[in-house]
Amino acid sequence: MTENLINTVDLDAQFQLENPQKIIKYAIKQFDNIAISFSGAEDVVLIEMARNYRPDIPVFCLDTGRLHAETYRFIEKVRKHFGIKIDVISPDGEAVRKLVVEKGLFSFYEDDHKECCGIRKIEPLRKKLLSLDAWITGQRKDQSPTRAEIPVIQDDKVFARPGATLTKFNPLANWSSKEVWDYIRLCEVPFNDLHERGFISIGCEPCTRPVAPGQHEREGRWWWEEATKKECGLHAGNIDSK
Ligand code: SF4
Repeated sequence: MTENLINTVDLDAQFQLENPQKIIKYAIKQFDNIAISFSGAEDVVLIEMARNYRPDIPVFCLDTGRLHAETYRFIEKVRKHFGIKIDVISPDGEAVRKLVVEKGLFSFYEDDHKECCGIRKIEPLRKKLLSLDAWITGQRKDQSPTRAEIPVIQDDKVFARPGATLTKFNPLANWSSKEVWDYIRLCEVPFNDLHERGFISIGCEPCTRPVAPGQHEREGRWWWEEATKKECGLHAGNIDSK
């Protein structure tokens, strides 16, 4: 394979104006060992698009243990709707137990969400990505100030195996929320019931709340923290750590 030699900066420039389907098609053609990271929300459109090129596209999602019941039901609905396998990844039980024993079940309201997200999301993701050459996410520029500059294709240095490359595709980067929803309706793709109750960006139950009309979707996530810090670490490269 020639993936390691791909210049992702040039490719990103080349694909910036392409539609998400074309980016996904390219990703699947280039990488056998690729998977979609499904969050249990609107990024279900990635699965709908990808199955045209690879019906058995590997899909994984992170079960933090703190998701809404609606999200678990939605994951199951997606599994059945597409007839696919979904790798639902749990965090390390001992690490969760230690956190809860030492700090309780809601420590993220008192310090910040980094420790809990680290145990429940980032470490499981890190382990999963060690087994992949490329991954596809549903990140969009319009989701958050921290995502305003995300490329369509990038060299993921945060989660790459030592000595190897990991290519990250963000095919929806340049789509708006409206475009995603138009696609969901057009293709009659299932969606999370929480979207009908004012939730836009959906994460863990204790850290997500509905937003009022006119509020930015990210205001419903970690609302007690600054907007420029609202990343859980899954896309750590989006935040300048300086
Ligand atoms: S979003 Fe909240 S509950 Fe979920 S892993 Fe992060 S801090 Fe923990």
